[in-house]
Parts: sequence; structure tokens; C-alpha cells
Amino acid sequence: MKIVIVGGGAGGLELATKIGRKLGKSQQAEVVLIDRNQTHLWKPLLHKVATGALDAEVEGVSYRAHGHNNGYTFKLGELTGVDPERKCIQLKPAVNAEGEEFLPAREEAYDYLVLAIGSVANDFGIPGVSDHCVLLDRLAHANRLQQRLLEKFIGLNRELSKGAAERMLRVAIIGGGATGVELSAELYKAREELVKYGMKHVTPEHMQVTLIEAGPRLVPQLDNNISQRAEQELTRLGVTVKTNTQVKRADKGGFVTSDDGFIESDIMVWAAGVKAPDFLPQMGHFEFNRANQILVKPTLQTSRFDDVFAMGDCAGLQIEASDGQLRWVPARAQSAHQMADTVGHNLLRLIKSQPLVEFTYKDMGSLVSLGEYNAFGRLMGGLARGGLSVRGRIARWLYISLYRMHQSAIYGWPRTVLITINDRFNHWLRPRLKLR
Ligand SMILES: Cc1cc2nc3c(=O)[nH]c(=O)nc-3n(C[C@H](O)[C@H](O)[C@H](O)COP(=O)(O)OP(=O)(O)OC[C@H]3O[C@@H](n4cnc5c(N)ncnc54)[C@H](O)[C@@H]3O)c2cc1C
Repeated sequence: MKIVIVGGGAGGLELATKIGRKLGKSQQAEVVLIDRNQTHLWKPLLHKVATGALDAEVEGVSYRAHGHNNGYTFKLGELTGVDPERKCIQLKPAVNAEGEEFLPAREEAYDYLVLAIGSVANDFGIPGVSDHCVLLDRLAHANRLQQRLLEKFIGLNRELSKGAAERMLRVAIIGGGATGVELSAELYKAREELVKYGMKHVTPEHMQVTLIEAGPRLVPQLDNNISQRAEQELTRLGVTVKTNTQVKRADKGGFVTSDDGFIESDIMVWAAGVKAPDFLPQMGHFEFNRANQILVKPTLQTSRFDDVFAMGDCAGLQIEASDGQLRWVPARAQSAHQMADTVGHNLLRLIKSQPLVEFTYKDMGSLVSLGEYNAFGRLMGGLARGGLSVRGRIARWLYISLYRMHQSAIYGWPRTVLITINDRFNHWLRPRLKLR
């Protein structure tokens, strides 16, 4: 039996590890993981890579080596189509940086297929976003943002050294969700560190961050008081927070708002929501929701094909919330993690011809980290049954432990403990900013 998983992200890599160890190593099934990249980086770390707080080269997991140790085979490839009738997927040719094709267009056959290709930024059809904004969907975007920051700072330093008039480097971030809030705080940490990198003429005050949110408050998925605290803390750092501000167009040099205001910006970042990739609905075959997510049954099998599963950000499943309303499972790392568990169980059950289990989403709460400054959140489930607000060191520790849980799923706890100790040493030994 051959199980093909496409997408080695927060959910896909955990699943490949789990069933690779259980089925691949014992040769009960051939487990193949396909990703368009050679290495895995946990997506919630992207804003830290973008600001140089984290070195993606150190943190990245090589799929090939990891697969060798965990009973699955890694294949490089970018999915372009699925043919459920012929039970195969199509991958586009792989091209190197010089434009040379080193792998042709290929097909990969499967007995069971798991689609776990995540999400992309949703520009909601607003003109100019793809031309002028940096996104935070993948490592290449985070590296690009880091490069832009560094280049702008180097340029400003040179201008000021030649006696040019004082001016600010303006960064505007659209989207006051967790990503926008966390990125704003990390940028403030970065600006303090950047000036220590031999740029004698710039000071932290030369960078101004504006965070723009269409709704009435930041991080709307969290309690009102947590939103307020996040806004107060960001304002204290120096971020200009603009809520109830709708952007209608992105132009060169800034954003045009719905009341025809103009927010000038040297670096424009779009972090205003996600959708599953556009090519999915274009491919046909499956049923989709408005966010392009593939509709799945509670077993996480796609609504039309029992031998194709979808999970994580690209899967659409409605669940009954505590208020009785039907809501989509949120596109979050904890959903991908929980779905990987269910799909893993179900693949094992299929092999043993046992009935499949249904996915139940356990909301463990939400946390938002303001880098080294603060963290806030609300825990749910377990001892915090009615919801428990956390902040400060405890919230920061819990936030970091989410990543440790992901690491433990792919490395096991003993190695995760060693990695954690190693990270502590690196924190003392290596420069705070890992700029490339
Ligand atoms: C900056 C940032 C901060 C975040 N912070 C948090 C947080 O604090 N808490 C939280 O719960 N969630 C957070 N999220 C959301 C979280 O990262 C996602 O919900 C989670 O990663 C989804 O997991 P996934 O496995 O569905 O997809 P992903 O982790 O995105 O993985 C998708 C994988 O598929 C691969 N892929 C994509 N397209 C193709 C293709 N066509 N062919 C082959 N491979 C493909 C990608 O390379 C990637 O490896 C954050 C997201 C961002 C961007």
C-alpha cells in the first residue's frame, strides 16, 4: 500500500513522522512525503525569520534526512493537480535558480492521498497587493522582508552619513491579527539591535511601524481585554495602531484607505488573513468553501473521495461551537496538529479494516507573543475549562511550548529537550540578529 502526503508543514510533517514510524519502518506501507521545499520550517516562526530573530538555516528540518530516520521517503515536488479516478497526482517541473529544469513534470500514484498544502495570504481582491506588498506565506517571503529591512536601513545610514535631512523608515502592516501584532513587536526588537550592526547614523527612532486593522480591535479572536492590552503594549513600544481602517488599494509608496487617506510606507506588509491556494478549486474534483478549502467529512476524508484526505489550513470542516453555531475549524497550527493525529489514526485503521474515527476540535486557547516584551492569551480545556487569561512570563513560556510540542512530534521528547538546551546556549553565544 502506498500513502502519499503532499505538504510537509505543521500538520503534514507530523503525520509523515507518525505513520512513517508506524507503517513505513515495518514496511506495512510505503509512505511518501512530497513538498515544494527541501526543508521544513514551522510556519508560526516566519515573522521571527523576517526580523532576523531566528536563523531559518539552523531551525530548518531537512526532509530527506528526517525521512530516512523516520520511515518515509521524501520527494521534492510542487502539486499542480490530482486525478482521483486514476489515483495519481501531478507535479510541476522543478527548476533551479538558473532557470534550468532538473526534474520534469511527473505523476505520482497513490492508494491513499493526504493533501496538507496549507494556505496563502488572502488579498480579498484588493488591487496592488501582489505588486507592492511583502507577504508572510513562506520562507522566501520572510527572507525577502529581512533583506528589504536591511537594505533600507543600510541606505538610510548612508544617506544620513552624507548629511541628508532626517527621515523615518516607515513600515506599514495590514492585518491586526496575531501575525501582524507579533511582527510589529519583533520589528521593534529588531530596530534596537540593527543599530548595533555598525550603522552609526541610524537610531531605533528612525523606524516607524504602523499596524492597520479593518475591524474595531486587534487580535479579534482573543478577549476584548487582551486586545486592549496588546494595543496598549504596542503603542507603548511606539507602534501606531489604526483600527477601523479599511485599505482599498496598495500603491507604490503606501496604502490608500477607504476614506481616501494615504498611509505612506517604505515597506508594505500584507498579513490580513488566509485562504487555501487558488489552484485547488481550479483543479475541480473536490467540493470547496469560499476560502478555497477542500470540504472534508468528520473522518477528514474529502467529501467526494474516501481515499483522499485533506487536513490543516487547506481543509474545510464545520463544527458546532459552544454557542450552537456552526463554525469552520480555524486555520491554526493547533488544528493542523490535531488533524494530523486523526488522519494518522484513520490510516492505521484503514490498514486494519477498522471503522474510522471522527475529528473533534479541542480549542486549547490562543496566545499572542510580543517577542521579548510580553505575551497574552487565553487557555481553554483541561484545568482551564471556563477559559483562563494568561500574560507575561507564563504566556511567553506557553507560547514557546507550542513549538516544542511540534518539535517533540517530529523528533521525540529526548531530542527536543537537547535542542531546547542547545537553543539556550545559542541564545547566549550567537548574535541576537541573524541577518543574511
Ligand atoms: C507569521 C505566522 C504566524 C503564525 N502564528 C501562529 C500561532 O501563533 N499559532 C497558531 O496556531 N498558528 C499560527 N499561524 C498559522 C499556522 O502557521 C498554520 O495554521 C499552520 O502552519 C497550518 O499548517 P498546515 O500543515 O496546514 O500548513 P503549513 O504549515 O503551511 O504547511 C504547508 C506545507 O505545504 C507545502 N506546500 C504548499 N503548497 C504546495 C504545493 N503546491 N506542492 C507541494 N507542497 C506544497 C509548503 O511548502 C509547506 O511545507 C501563523 C502563521 C503565520 C504565517
